[in-house]
Amino acid sequence: MSEKKSARKGSVGMDFLQKYQKEFAEYDRLDQDFIDDDKIWTQLNKWEKPSRQDVRLVLKKAEQCVRLEPEEAAILLQNQDETTIREMYELASQLKKEVYGDRIVFFAPLYISDECANNCLYCGFRCSNKAIQRKTLSMDEIEQEVRIMINEGQKRTVLVYGESPTTDIDFICESVRKVYSVKTKGGEIRRANINCAPLSVEELKKLKKVGIGTFQVFQETYHHPTYRKVHPQNTIKGHYRWRLYCMDRAQQAGVDDNGIGVLFGLYDWRFEVMGLLYHTIHLEETFNGVGPHTISIPRITPATGTPYSQNPEHAVSDEDFKKLVAVLRLSVPYTGLICTAREPEKVRREVIPLGITQIDAGTRIGVGGYSQSKRANQLPTKEQFSIGDVRTLDDVVKEICDLNCLPSFCTACYRAGRTGEQFMKIAKSKFVHRYCLPNAILTLKEYLLDYASEETKQKGEEVIKQHLENFAGEAVYDSISQYLKRIEQGERDLRL
Ligand code: SAM
Ligand code: SF4
Repeated sequence: MSEKKSARKGSVGMDFLQKYQKEFAEYDRLDQDFIDDDKIWTQLNKWEKPSRQDVRLVLKKAEQCVRLEPEEAAILLQNQDETTIREMYELASQLKKEVYGDRIVFFAPLYISDECANNCLYCGFRCSNKAIQRKTLSMDEIEQEVRIMINEGQKRTVLVYGESPTTDIDFICESVRKVYSVKTKGGEIRRANINCAPLSVEELKKLKKVGIGTFQVFQETYHHPTYRKVHPQNTIKGHYRWRLYCMDRAQQAGVDDNGIGVLFGLYDWRFEVMGLLYHTIHLEETFNGVGPHTISIPRITPATGTPYSQNPEHAVSDEDFKKLVAVLRLSVPYTGLICTAREPEKVRREVIPLGITQIDAGTRIGVGGYSQSKRANQLPTKEQFSIGDVRTLDDVVKEICDLNCLPSFCTACYRAGRTGEQFMKIAKSKFVHRYCLPNAILTLKEYLLDYASEETKQKGEEVIKQHLENFAGEAVYDSISQYLKRIEQGERDLRL
């Protein structure tokens, strides 16, 4: 029986499980990796009770918009004092405004397959879960899903896959090409990010050729013993270092726009934030200053047939979640922070001003979910976990406008080649505003004309007017105004 067929029946051959054995052996030979569990705990313990003065010294440095050192982050993570926690929140909001403006970038995930050979304790898609219906979308089904997403107003997506012979690298590439090929009147997906299992350099080179946006892989937990506990050792995912060095391989393959993340709830959240920071520093030091483009901060939510997910061992409270967002914003001011619809509306509302730069909305996470349901959580036997914010894209766009922020569907940077080192140069010198805010205005205008409800349209036009005024007296004011007119006359995809 072919490898693909046997995978469909729920079991995979040894060949598949051993496909990266040679590479594993190379990583096994390393004396140590860049996450030192003991050192992280020593740093956290050293600052078990920082004084106000300790915290304020770190905040003074953070004001300069520079990446913090792990020990400085440890001081903020351990801070229990309400007054200085408020100061941390204020500075985090201020830095977010300085670096990113009031803009929030929108995307939606597209689940391509729930077939998976791994057995991660927390995940609804793990191979031992009999409560999930297995399915990989055909190319026609992908097209159907994409059409619905486009018609709801989406421009950016992240394609999500399990790890299975059915979704090998050639299939992943074909699915990306399919997504980009779907065009409707005025609509298309302009940026497809990928969230899949770690790949080899050769596989990543293939991915590079099809023109993906961000390549995302979350470490889940940086704590070695916990990693071993929740990822069985007889699976590919059981190999900690194969995952840890995945973004190094991506950089080597030329995939330079990368997203890292942690699944909060598996281990102590303070340790995990330190892990994210060490990962960022490792990438910056190894690749000429280019760290991750984004950091994702999912918290575990309940998944069908998955007892571990109902009651995670290190569940993170809402208060601690807010704090970790602020600490990340202060520690890595130039890295995007993604807060997904796993979080309930109320939590998202509270953390957005503290430093979040990207959110999803109108999300369906079942395989085939856009065709089969109007909202998330309606297909529990097809969904990887449950969603906290099930509102439509239009509802969330409206709310972001109400907060006086600027919803953005912009995809200009990666299409103009402003990624990796290029992007970092622009971001670090704060020129992000020159491109991102005008393009946010232009893409919001398209959304309002093509997809928005009357109420959202009114609010959105108001927001555009206010944000345009911020450019008064600058040359770019005229360019934006002219482009807005051309969009009103029917042109699309105009960008700076
Ligand atoms: N299968 C690939 C992998 O594991 O790298 C692709 C990613 S998986 C489909 C997307 C992410 O969902 C995982 O990396 C994990 O962080 C997150 N996830 C898994 N189970 C979850 C749960 N119960 N609640 C919230 N997020 C979960
Ligand atoms: Fe598979 Fe990813 Fe779920 Fe693990 S987290 S079981 S690798 S889909």
